[in-house]
Order: sequence, then structure tokens, then C-alpha cells
Amino acid sequence: MAMAPIVRFAPSPTGRIHIGNARAALLNWLFALKHGGQFILRYDDTDVARSTQEFADGIATDVAWLGIKPSRVEWQSKRFGRYDEVAADLKARGFLYACYETADELDRRRKRQQARGLPPVYDRASLKLTPDEIVSFEKEGRKPHWRFKLAQKPVEWNDLIRGPVHIDTATLSDPVLIREDGTYLYTLPSVIDDIDFAVTHVIRGEDHVVNTAAQIEISRAINGTIPEYAHYSLLNGADGKGLSKRLGSLSIQSFRDEGLEAMAVVSHAALLGTSDNIHPCADYKELVDNFDLSKLSRAPARFDEAELKVLNAKLLHMLPWDAVKDRLPFGSEPFWLAVRGNIEKLSDAKAWHDVITQDIKVLVADEEKDFIATARGSLPPEPWDAGTWKAWTEIVKSDTGRKGKALFMPLRLALTGLDHGPELAALLPLIGREKALARLT
Ligand code: GLU
Repeated sequence: MAMAPIVRFAPSPTGRIHIGNARAALLNWLFALKHGGQFILRYDDTDVARSTQEFADGIATDVAWLGIKPSRVEWQSKRFGRYDEVAADLKARGFLYACYETADELDRRRKRQQARGLPPVYDRASLKLTPDEIVSFEKEGRKPHWRFKLAQKPVEWNDLIRGPVHIDTATLSDPVLIREDGTYLYTLPSVIDDIDFAVTHVIRGEDHVVNTAAQIEISRAINGTIPEYAHYSLLNGADGKGLSKRLGSLSIQSFRDEGLEAMAVVSHAALLGTSDNIHPCADYKELVDNFDLSKLSRAPARFDEAELKVLNAKLLHMLPWDAVKDRLPFGSEPFWLAVRGNIEKLSDAKAWHDVITQDIKVLVADEEKDFIATARGSLPPEPWDAGTWKAWTEIVKSDTGRKGKALFMPLRLALTGLDHGPELAALLPLIGREKALARLT
């Protein structure tokens, strides 16, 4: 890439971010990392009534948890003066025109069009209003909303994911950019910000493809540089249906609260819908090395929370002690290496620590008492290491003639109180001779 790119992630702080937003954030972040560019976190908070500081703070926390470090943070609500300036210019040049229809009137008009088999495109009736009609609307107390006058021509761009895209804006309604109460919809502020912050690449969901056609026309109207666009396909749920309705329950906060690893969420969200297999990545390096927008599929990607949980377990199974030690103050490297293969969430490690260190309910069936007593008698002296278990059970085997499950299971039950768990070869030295003797009594 000739120039270091500038990308942005632009959530509205009207709620917390979910897996779909995280994907937007990550694809932009990986793109920035890959090409040595900058990542802007931009709060699209033009809807002042629904946006809150609390949601914005929550989003910042979620973004940081995902390991994303914005080089710049911007708020649309602080830039209304700038938007007003551009809007005034667009009005003066006839690109923005006042419309007086009420929502009801527009709705009735759309229904009539549909009944006649016509596309429900706004007919520009307000452009034909006479000055007298406008005066009488204003007298009625009607306030105009403002539409952008589309060129009604083909708009084309070479989408970095979808390839050549061609949209004829004659098939679209002129988009409303300013509401009756003077507030901005997202469309115009976004274009102005992308231009003012020199955004080079807009990477976002395919639900914005039609917006892009209008936004390219708006960029031209204000003589701005048009960024490159990349629209990725949206997520479906495990049932193949769109996720949008359920996204609320798939917040990044809920994954964190459930104790999932950030890198599991990152790996899953970043690799979903790409030609790479979804697999756990312990850090960003591999994701960045392999990142390429052209690997994103045009077909919808399928998100299944159960798969995320499996990925989380797989990630833990390969993490080195260094990656977790700060979060396991009670642990040690041998402990971690012993138990990591038997946990699904990091918090599960505590239960294994308790099995090793706490008083447990030992399980020895009556008919195993003699066997356990014999085994106890041959417990080797300390120091113990990874070879102790094998050395000990070889002796027990020759003393009792037992082998396989009949040999190991009663020992496991007696030493851990459980019929499953990490390798006893690793657990035994952690339990230690004193505790082992007591449990074998
Ligand atoms: N606030 C917009 C959204 O969340 C941003 C879309 C964009 O990236 O331009 O849909």
C-alpha cells in the first residue's frame, strides 16, 4: 500500500457492541496492523437522545479487551458546527432540498406506488412545491426535513471484497440527511468525518452497500476524496437466519462476563467467513500475517456460540503459563501444564487447584480397600517428578496383578475423588506425598 491507510470503527453508543460489531472493529484493526496504518474509534452519536456516555465507556472497555488500541477517538456530537457548515453549503448549491411530507403522507404514497407495482422511490414532490405552498406549510407549523438530491446515474466502485459494484441511484429515494428537528442522520456526518479525518478505507457490513452509492455522491458534492470501500457479508446464526434480532444477547461484555478468552473471541470473529479455518490464535501476530480482505467470502458467515466455546477451550489447551499467570495467582507452571487440557474456561482451573490442595471427599469402594492399602504401602519417597506415577504403578501392578482401568481408576478415585481429570502423572507430584498418603487411607 502506497500510503499508510486510515480506517475507522464507528459504533453508535446506543448500546454495547456485539459479535457483529466486534467483527467490524477487528477487520479494520487487522487491516491497520497489516499495513502500518491508523485506527480511529469514532462514536456515531448523532442521536443524542439515545446515545449515552455509559455506553461509550462500555464500548471503549470492550474494544480495549479485544486488544484494539485506537490511535484517535472522535465524537460526532462534538462536530455539529462542522456538519451545519457543510449542510448550509449543500443547501445553497441545491444538493439538499427541503421536504414537507409527514411520515404518514410518505407512507400512504409508498403504499399507492406498491399497489401499482411501482418501486417505492420518493417522487421528489417537494421539489415542485411553489413558494406559496411552502409558506402555507410553514404557517401550519411544519418543519422541513432535508433530502440529498441524487444524480440519478450509475455509481461504480471496485469493492475490495465484492469486486466491481454498480448501483444506479435513479433506483433510490433521495436520502434524508437532516430530520425535521434539525438532527442529522448518520449518512452526512459519516461522509464529512471520513473526508476530514482522511479515512482511506471504509470496511463495513454489506447492509451499507446502498448507503455507499449515496455517500459516494455526497463525497463528490462536497469535493471530498472518495475512500476505498470493502463490504463484508453479515453473520447468520447457527440456524442460518440473520443474527440481528439476537445480537443483544451476543454482546462482547457477556462473553467477557462468561469468562471467555479475548483471543478466542478475536480469533473467531476475525476468521469467521474467511477462507482460513477457524482456529485459536494466542496473539495477533498470526492473524495479522494471514490477513487479507480478499479472503472474506461473499456468502453470509455463520456464527454459533457453541463453536466459540469450543474454540475457547482449544485456545486454553495450548496457552503457555506466561499467557495466564497474571490471572491465576494461585497457580504455577507445572499446575497449569497439568490442568489446561481439562478446562473450558480459565476459571475452571480453580476447581482443579482445589482438587489438588483442598480436603476432598475420597472415594474408595469397600472391595478396593485392600488394593488401596497395598498401593499406599509402595508410594515412593519424595522428591517426586513426572516419572513417579509410572514408577509407583509399575510396583502396584506387580504386587497386585492388576492392570489397565482396574489398576488406575481406584487410584484416581482415591487421589482426586473424581473418575476423570488431568493425567495422574502430572497431578501426583502436585498433590505431594503427605496428601497422597492421607487420601489413600
Ligand atoms: N454507525 C454506523 C453503523 O454502526 C457505521 C457504519 C459505517 O461504518 O460507516 O452501522
